[in-house]
Amino acid sequence: MKQASVAITLRRCAKTFDHGQRALRPVDLSVAAGETVVLLGPSGCGKTTMLRLIAGLERPDPGGTVLFDGEDVTQQPIESRQVGMVFQSYALFPNMTVRGNIGYGLRIRRLPAAEITRRVDELLDLMRLREFAERAVNRLSGGQRQRVALARALAPRPRVLLLDEPLTALDAQLRETLRVEMNSLLRQLGITTVYVTHDQAEAMALGDRIVVMSAGRIEQAGTPREIYYSPASLAVARFIGTLNRLAGEVRDGRFHCAGCAAPIALPRRLPPGGAMWFRPEDARIVPHAEANLVGRVLQAVFLGDRTRLTVGEIGDAPVLVDVPGRADLAPSGSIGLAIAPDAWLCLPEDAA
Ligand code: ATP
Repeated sequence: MKQASVAITLRRCAKTFDHGQRALRPVDLSVAAGETVVLLGPSGCGKTTMLRLIAGLERPDPGGTVLFDGEDVTQQPIESRQVGMVFQSYALFPNMTVRGNIGYGLRIRRLPAAEITRRVDELLDLMRLREFAERAVNRLSGGQRQRVALARALAPRPRVLLLDEPLTALDAQLRETLRVEMNSLLRQLGITTVYVTHDQAEAMALGDRIVVMSAGRIEQAGTPREIYYSPASLAVARFIGTLNRLAGEVRDGRFHCAGCAAPIALPRRLPPGGAMWFRPEDARIVPHAEANLVGRVLQAVFLGDRTRLTVGEIGDAPVLVDVPGRADLAPSGSIGLAIAPDAWLCLPEDAA
């Protein structure tokens, strides 16, 4: 089941609410046809507002334009934009059956009964809901309801799918399963999708691209790998994954710090007042002779797939190091750590 989908462009779209509440500063964003873009950021940063501008539930401030496949839809209401939406609350009809809920939008549009049955059956199969077709929605689990909400949004064959924290109401384990399901479903459908979340793991799992937002601004837009390995700012780096800050100083073009086995060659120019950063999984335990850093293991916490070490006597505060696999590590004497040259991040200190 392939959907016809459109490219979305936002040009200089800002949104100011009554009483001067500035939810969105002027932003530019392009979403290619069939692409899944995830809007990621802390509560109140403007994600939902951007989604509502795309849906046609809000109008941008004067000067902002929303385009679908190059056509200006800024003044078009939601009904004529052909978008499908799913919210955190699902907004299903609780007493209506699964079949009734999925077909609802099609009955409103007065499609022939045979066509409604055909499309609903197709979605029941796609969402693995066939056995629940005649069951009332209020007798389903959270994960099943979520799939009904998605099927209902897809039934009218929208050109764009807009999802606002659709997994938030579910428990952690179910979210993880549905994240993977959703990933394959969106790829199968090939529908242009904008997905709002504040959960970085969800963003990484689902986005062809992630747009990291903060305070009504786009901080960075890029593939999950770009955002993770080349964050544009400390705010982005901190929002995605865990980081260790290494306090020290630059002398003769090299970085010196407590615990440095030898001065570290700077991979990039260090911004004024900046520090060197690395991620816990980018440090490897090596013999002292090969180490960049030497410290002392203060704590070792077994997490199943890895062990997280807290290592002291490096920089000015303990750093975290993740050791994958079955290694049985315990707080002990000194250890050597190697960090690949391209794994260092040189980031400014501010924005933290
Ligand atoms: P969350 O993750 O909590 O849903 P968000 O990133 O989606 O947050 P928005 O809902 O877009 O954020 O809100 C951005 C800002 O605009 C917030 O400060 C919010 O209080 C404000 N805001 C949103 N809608 C309105 C409105 N209708 N009237 C006034 N202010 C609003």
